[in-house]
Amino acid sequence: MSEFVESLMQDVKAKNPDQPEFHQAVYEVLTSLELVLEKHPEYRKAKIVERIVEPERVIMFRVPWVDDNGEVQINRGYRIEMNSAIGPYKGGLRFHPSVNLGILKFLAFEQVFKNSLTTLPMGGGKGGSDFNPKGKSDAEVMRFCQSFMSELFRHIGPNTDVPAGDIGVGGREIGYLFGQYKKLRNEFTGVLTGKGLGWGGSLIRPEATGYGSVYFASEMLATRGETLEGKTCLVSGSGNVAQYTVEKINQLGGKVVTLSDSSGYIYDEEGIDAKKLAFVMELKNVRRGRIKEYAEKYPNAVYTPVDPNLDYNPLWNHKADCAFPSATQNEINGKDAQHLVDNGVICVSEGANMPTTIEGINIFLENKILYGPGKAANAGGVAVSGLEMSQNSLRLSWTREEVDQKLHQIMKNIHKTCVDSAEAYGTPGNYVNGANIGGFLKVANAMLDQGIV
Ligand code: NDP
Repeated sequence: MSEFVESLMQDVKAKNPDQPEFHQAVYEVLTSLELVLEKHPEYRKAKIVERIVEPERVIMFRVPWVDDNGEVQINRGYRIEMNSAIGPYKGGLRFHPSVNLGILKFLAFEQVFKNSLTTLPMGGGKGGSDFNPKGKSDAEVMRFCQSFMSELFRHIGPNTDVPAGDIGVGGREIGYLFGQYKKLRNEFTGVLTGKGLGWGGSLIRPEATGYGSVYFASEMLATRGETLEGKTCLVSGSGNVAQYTVEKINQLGGKVVTLSDSSGYIYDEEGIDAKKLAFVMELKNVRRGRIKEYAEKYPNAVYTPVDPNLDYNPLWNHKADCAFPSATQNEINGKDAQHLVDNGVICVSEGANMPTTIEGINIFLENKILYGPGKAANAGGVAVSGLEMSQNSLRLSWTREEVDQKLHQIMKNIHKTCVDSAEAYGTPGNYVNGANIGGFLKVANAMLDQGIV
């Protein structure tokens, strides 16, 4: 590590104590940027890196609401407006009890580079709340969303900041949030993405992150003359990203043998085919049940509950060719990464944000795994959000085929940017450097052009 990166990291840690996920995300990017800073003293002079790690604005607010028993509940709401050099802030909202300032700052930081990679004009942001939608009635979720938006509405807008979904925020929540924004502003605008199809949403938006992650994996495999046909795949999570990852892998001839939620995972050696996937979608999106029920419905599958005493996740310890972590951050540690390598996995495409620890990443890189980091591999979601914004501005909607074709092309372009950037900076095949450098350059140049703001 260079002296510059070391001292900047010390600074970031001192200024942002108790935010380990934010430190991790910054560290990973800075180690790649060392290569760039050597070649570009102008970035050092303008303190681009020192500025890029500091959010442009952080909003924190109280979210009071009343539950079905008439009890008053109080949650905390956040919006991190990280960087607007290349467009309005853009990034999802996460509703999960683990949400805190550090987690949202890591997500907002990653989002800056990811959005830049899509080639669309979007800055980076992220937000959410420590509200737990699990076990809440629709009416409770609605009252929470209305209270959340009663503050957020004054900070966002179609040309300022355009939130979307993330963990715990899907079509239902976006609907309630949009309804409240529209009422408060008396405006029907594209202020959120992931909207319903009948009121401004884009076809393929629900599918985009999962499909995009699989398209990215296909591009990586193609560099070694391989395809997904006949490949056995491990997928974690069972939410939006995981579901459409499974759908696309199946379409391309692969076989998915695992899915999970925060209580445990299922292993189905026969594969999760379209019919079983339809069951999972109904289970998770309509009944909001647990993945355990999959093994009750399909007795050949084995359910393993989470064991808090294990220092690894057994989901990653099965024979397979490809892995698609699609649940949450730091779900693959060093031990898990080693298990994947030992079990013959050649390709890892991250649907989730920062699912692999630094130790895990190093194991993938040392073993020459085709490793697509989240900010590249899962950029399909925000890319189609960008396409939703374009359609809203044009006041028209594209067909399913048109959007899917644009998504596919964007994922190919992102892959090419990663490959080219990694090569240009002397680390061919290193998608981590490729994504970080490729994403950084456009933002850094825009910041140079726009002066010290
Ligand atoms: P969902 O809420 O639809 O699903 C999340 C899934 O991950 C659920 O199965 C959930 O299980 C599981 N999960 C969540 N937190 C944990 C945890 N702490 N430990 C174990 N499992 C957990 O979210 P998405 O599918 O939208 O998001 C998944 C990942 O993809 C996140 O990292 C998100 O940031 C990333 N992502 C999402 C995009 C999108 O368009 N939605 C875009 C780009 C990235 P349970 O139900 O038990 O909580």
